[in-house]
Amino acid sequence: MKSESSLKHFKADLHCHSTCSDGTCTPFEILDLAKKIGLRGLSITDHDSVLAYPAALEKAKELDLYLIPGVEFSSHHKNQSVHILAYSFDYTHPAIHALCEKHKRRRLDRNLKILDKLKTVGFLIDPEELLALSFATLGRPHIAYLMMQKKYVPDIATAFKLYLGDGKKCYVAGDQISLEETLATIKTANGLAVLAHPHLYNSYKTVKKLLEFSFDGLECSYANMTLEQNQPWIELAKEKNLMITGGSDFHGDVKPTIQLGATSIPWELFVPLLTHHS
Ligand code: AMP
Ligand code: FE
Ligand code: FE
Ligand code: ZN
Repeated sequence: MKSESSLKHFKADLHCHSTCSDGTCTPFEILDLAKKIGLRGLSITDHDSVLAYPAALEKAKELDLYLIPGVEFSSHHKNQSVHILAYSFDYTHPAIHALCEKHKRRRLDRNLKILDKLKTVGFLIDPEELLALSFATLGRPHIAYLMMQKKYVPDIATAFKLYLGDGKKCYVAGDQISLEETLATIKTANGLAVLAHPHLYNSYKTVKKLLEFSFDGLECSYANMTLEQNQPWIELAKEKNLMITGGSDFHGDVKPTIQLGATSIPWELFVPLLTHHS
C-alpha cells in the first residue's frame, strides 16, 4: 500500500478497451500510457473478452500499477442493450470463459449477416479481412473501420450513423444474451457487477428499473461528462448503497475525443474493488 501523500494523488480509470476488443492500443500500450499520464489504478474492460489477462497483470506489477481484472459484457433486457462491467472476478473461471465463447459465436454469426447486408448496398468486405483485425472480440467498430479504409464512408461515425447504428440500414441485432444470465455468471466467478454508463440511457426511470437487478455498483463518472452530468448518478448510487465507479471508455484512435484518464476515481472508491476477493 502507498504512503498517505501518494494516495491523495491516486487516480484510477476503470473502463477502457484494448486490441482484445475494439480499442486500438494493445493492453501493454494502455498500461504504458496509464503510467505516463500518472494513473495509479486501472482496469482493462474489453467487450466480452478477458484475453488481456493474466499477461497485463504481470506487466502492471512491473510498472507498479494497480490493475484489477475487468470486462464489459454486452447483454439485453427487454430488447434493450445493457452493458455490464464486471470487476475483481476470477478471470480463469470456466463460467466466464463459456460466456466469452458464447459471445464470440454470437458476434461471428451477426457480423457475417451485417457483411451480407452491406453487400446489398454495394460495400464489399471479405469476412477474412474482418477476422484478421482481432484475435478476440470483433464488433461493429471493426466493420466501420474497414468501410472507412475502403472509402465507402468518410469516417467511422458516418458508418454508424448511416449503416451500422442500432436500427440503421445494415444493422443486425443477432442473438441476445440476457442481463440475468450475465449477472449470474459474474456472481459465479465471484465478481462485482456494475451497470455501465447510465448516462447513455434515454431515461432516469430506465436506469432505476435496471438497478432492481443484483448490481453491486454504478458507473457514475463517465468519459468526458461534467460533474453536473455525473451528480444524479452519484446520488442514486448512494441512495441504493451501490459502489461508485468511473471510467473513460477509452478506445484509442477509433474514438479520438476520449482520452485515457478522461475521468477517474480516487483511492477511497478504488479500495473496495481492489480488496474484493474473487
Ligand atoms: P458491437 O459491440 O459490435 O455491437 O458494437 C458496439 C460498439 O460500437 C460500442 O461498444 C462502441 O464502442 C462502438 N460504437 C457505437 N456507436 C459508435 C459510433 N457512433 N462511433 C464509433 N463507435 C461507436
Ligand atoms: Fe467499444
Ligand atoms: Fe459500453
Ligand atoms: Zn466500453
